[in-house]
Parts: sequence; structure tokens; C-alpha cells
Amino acid sequence: MPSTTALTQIDKLAMKASDLPASAAEELGYLLQAHGQMLQGSRLVRGVEKRIRGERLNAEAAVSQEVGEISHAFSQMEDSYLSERSKDVRDVGQRLLRCLMQTPYRALADLPMGTVVVADELTPADTALLDPHLVAGFVTAVGGAQDHTGILARSLALPAVVGTAELLNHVKNGDIIVVDGVTGQVIVNPDEATLKRFHERKVELKRQARKLERLRNLPAMTRDEVQISLQANIDLPGEIDGALEHGAEGIGLYRTEYVFLNRDDVPTQDEQYVELRNIIEGMKGRTVTVRTLDVGNDKLPYSLGEHLGVSANPAMGLRAIRLSLKVQSLLENQLSAILRAGIHGPVRILIPMISTSSEMRQVRQIMKKVATRLRRKKIKIADPLPPVGAMIEIPGAALSADGLARDCDFFSIGTNDLTMYTLAIDRGDEQVAHLYSPLHPAVLRLIQFTTAAALRARIPVNVCGEMAGDERMTAILLGLGIRDLSMASAAVPRVKQRIRGLDLSEATRRAQTIMEQADSGMVAALLDDFNALA
Ligand code: PEP
Ligand code: MG
Repeated sequence: MPSTTALTQIDKLAMKASDLPASAAEELGYLLQAHGQMLQGSRLVRGVEKRIRGERLNAEAAVSQEVGEISHAFSQMEDSYLSERSKDVRDVGQRLLRCLMQTPYRALADLPMGTVVVADELTPADTALLDPHLVAGFVTAVGGAQDHTGILARSLALPAVVGTAELLNHVKNGDIIVVDGVTGQVIVNPDEATLKRFHERKVELKRQARKLERLRNLPAMTRDEVQISLQANIDLPGEIDGALEHGAEGIGLYRTEYVFLNRDDVPTQDEQYVELRNIIEGMKGRTVTVRTLDVGNDKLPYSLGEHLGVSANPAMGLRAIRLSLKVQSLLENQLSAILRAGIHGPVRILIPMISTSSEMRQVRQIMKKVATRLRRKKIKIADPLPPVGAMIEIPGAALSADGLARDCDFFSIGTNDLTMYTLAIDRGDEQVAHLYSPLHPAVLRLIQFTTAAALRARIPVNVCGEMAGDERMTAILLGLGIRDLSMASAAVPRVKQRIRGLDLSEATRRAQTIMEQADSGMVAALLDDFNALA
């Protein structure tokens, strides 16, 4: 029964709405109540039934026609409150049609081409729904450039400016907006000359990107002939085309949590397997590093709500591997899917938010158990089992890297969270965004220490935080001993160009000078000076 399904959906939405701040919860509550009433014995339902019986229409046509008639009647009303209700009738009608045709709801799917989304906040889950063919960019009042919404914008190559609270008071539907994601400039209703200038700038940026594409088949090799590996970070499976086009040597970080977002249920092991298999096969023999679920904080799947609970400090709460070890069925299912998909190409397993060796040992034990279970069922799995590595993104993990290395096959340094936790600056808080700097000497020391520990233990180490995709940072990362970088695909050509113009021994000497500095300002100046020279 489509109307019963629609009512169940509305009940679920009402439950989610009750978590909103009081006034929003009340307003949305009334709206959903009205939608619910329309689905129960109202003129809409009676009218649809009459059309089906009397006019012998199919259910979809009957709903369309009845909704069209009622919403038209509302729109003609003089009272502005009542005429606005025509939109609610259409919303309910569309929900019924989706239920009848069993097509899932996609928020932000009906936007006209070239839309600039202006919002108070876009969560990473909302951002994952933006179609880059329709959306030209977005601007939000809250958020930081290094949070997952900002990262996704870079992955989708969407111009975005976040943390501009003022703007919301100055825009209305239909305004023309220029969004310069490079400089952070937003211009509402620009004059002709400004519009022309930005149009030319866009054309120029595209020309530069095309020029860089010529580097695709050239090695990422420094002037003194040291080969560097450049890999891609992906959030959504569709991003592998971009990774290959930009010449990435593999996937250095696949953030699996997006498969869990924007849906009401937990993806089954088979669904996860199919998703992974597509990515692994798509990468045609290049290694894919699959990170296990990193939810919590700003990425909250509805289906895991009961496990995640409320936390005063969600960034430091039950998230990532802590959740996977608490709700072990989640980890077992994910590991099973990875091991099964691992027969289609090389994979590595990356564990987020590791703080102790014991977490790594538990993961290995669970992986062994899962492997035995699959083998017993005669299901083919990767043989040998894939390497298992730790994200080094908690200062304590970096400082104990020597010990951790004994239980890890590789390290991946997550500078986004490492910077946040080292400096106690929320990466998603626009009020402190100006203080967030991976060039702080403390962060650089942790990167240096982790890299040295990995070299001593003879295990691979890479950097997969946003720093890796910023060509301004390439010299310092290479100077500290990093030889493997993973970044948004679009950044690969720019970083490759930087590497090809760089002398590694000079970068190493500059890194030594930089490491003697006491503040980020001096570090930045020394780095900019080096970048300008070489
Ligand atoms: C990081 O923390 O640097 C990282 C790569 O992981 P994420 O951005 O997903 O937290
Ligand atoms: Mg992280």
C-alpha cells in the first residue's frame, strides 16, 4: 500500500525532526502532521480512488491528476497562506508517486542547471547528493574548508565557500551569484563587467587544467630522480573515472562511510561487496586502499543512530574504529566484503582513528575469524589476506608510532584530524578556521616522527590528508621523508608538476631549517620562499 509506505516515511521524518532545535522541530512537526493527514481519508485519497474506479486510470495517473487539480485550486486562493499550501499538496503527491513507482527520494535532485546552493549548513551527506552537472557551486554559513563537506566539494570539483554567515541575509532565490572557491570570494548580483571577468577566469582555469593533463603519463619524479607515488582519495564510487583521468596510481583512501549515508538501512555485506568490486575492477590492477567505516561527528548515518548516541564531544566520542569494535557485526560485514572483493584486484585495509596497538590486534583477530568463516563456506577470498594499516591521525598514535608499527603493515597519516587534535581546533568550525594550520611545528613534528618510525620498521607510509593535495606543501612533506601522497584526483596534476620541478635534496635541507622554527608564520614564510625559488 503506497499510502501506508508514505505514512511510515512521514512518521520516520517526524522522529528525526524531533531532534532539531525546538522552533524548527515544532514548525516541521506541524508540516509533517499536515502531510500525514492528506494521506488519510482526505479529499486527495478519495479523489484518487474515484479516478481509479470511475475513470479506470492507473494509480500513478490518478494521483498525478488529482494532485494537479487540488494544488491548482490552492494556488488560486487569495489568502497567501492557503495558496502556499499548493506546494504541500504537490510534495505529498510526489511522495505517493515515488512509493508507487518504488523510486527512492533524492534530495536536491530537481535543481535547475547552474544552481548555486546557499545554505546555513550542508552536511557531508547532503553534499554527496549534489549533482555536479546541475549545481554550479555552493556557499554555506557554517563549516571549515578542511571538514568533509569542503573535502567533498574538492572531490566533486564544485566551487564552494564555507563559513560565510553574513551572506544568508543578502541573498534570495533567483539572484546571480559568483562563487570563487580559490579566493573564497562570493559576489551577489555582479555587474556585467564583473561577470565577464569571472567568466574569463573560469575559462583560464580550465585552460590551465587542460595543460596540466599533459603530465598524465609522465612520472611524478623529482629533478634529482626520486620517484614519488601519487594516489587518489575517493568518497563516492563514481570518482574512479576522475582518478584514472588524472593519472592516479591507485586509490590511497576510499572513505566507505558514504555508502552508509542517505539511506534508512545498513548496507548488506553483498551490497558492500558489489560496490567494492566495481571500484577494484575499475582501477584495473592498481591498489585500492579501503578504509573501514569512519562515522560519527559530522557523518551520521540514520541507520546507526541507535549505536551512536549523544556525545558532548562527538569528534572524540564513539566513532570510527571505536564504533566498529563495539558493534562488531559492522566490522565483520565490512571485512567480509573487502576480503571477498579482494579477489578482483589488490586491496589494502585501512583502520581509522587508531589510538592503541590493541585496537589493531583486535581488528586482525576479527579479520582472521571472518576469513576462516568465509573459507569454511567455500567462498573465495583474497589470498594472502590484504595488508592492514592504521590511520595516524591522533597525536597519541603518532607519538607511539614505533610501537604501533609492530602491529601495522602500513601507516597513512591523516593530517586533517591530526591537525585538529594536535591544535585543539575543530576543523569544521568557521570561527576558528583561521587558526587551523598543518604547518604548525607540532603537526610537522608528528609527521616527521611517524615517517621516521615507519622507515625504521620498514613499513610503507603515506599522507592522505588534504595537505597532500596542496602543492604549496609538497616540498615540506617530501623533505620530511614522505614518498607517497594521496589526494583529491583533481589535485594530482598540480602536485605532479610541483614534484617535477623540485630538487629533493634541496627540499630536505629546507625541511631541516623549517623544523628548527618555533611558529607556523616562520614555517610558512620559509616554505613560500623555497616554493618561489624552486
Ligand atoms: C584525515 O583525517 O586527514 C583523513 C584523511 O581522514 P578524514 O578527512 O576522512 O577524517
Ligand atoms: Mg580523519
